[in-house]
Amino acid sequence: RRSAHCPPDVESLGRATWTFLHTTAAYYPESPTPTQRAHMLQLLHSLPQLYPCSHCAGDLGARLQRRPPDVRSRAALSAWLCATHNEVNVMLGKPTFDCARVDERWKDGPKDGSCD
Ligand code: FAD
Repeated sequence: RRSAHCPPDVESLGRATWTFLHTTAAYYPESPTPTQRAHMLQLLHSLPQLYPCSHCAGDLGARLQRRPPDVRSRAALSAWLCATHNEVNVMLGKPTFDCARVDERWKDGPKDGSCD
């Protein structure tokens, strides 16, 4: 697998976007202010409008309607995002990710230094 495409295809754009979203969730406040919650909701609800893969955007919009983002805390947001990514994984026939390991993957890093 090539590590970068120029311009990015759906796969490399997806990997970059999940990296951004999971990392942002990992550093979201444990006790966000109402303003921080509103910004996170704006970020997530902007994706179905702007994400430059139209079928991905439409699919995400339907998911956000079905299971609204939980922006009450870092842990809640990380869990919501992991579940949402897993829904996409299932749709695409990819293995699901163990959400108990989400901080290890996106915040603390694994003890042996490997990511996958
Ligand atoms: P990715 O799914 O990109 O995951 C990257 C890394 O995240 C993995 O290597 C793993 O370490 C980690 N990870 C995996 N699952 C989880 C999880 N549940 N929680 C936390 N970490 C996890 N592609 C399409 O073909 N059709 C679509 O409709 C579509 N919709 C998308 C919607 C969004 C919002 C995004 C961001 C991407 C979408 N994609 C879609 C792209 C697709 O999800 C993948 O990013 C792409 O196929 C590359 O997959 P990958 O196997 O490299 O791993």
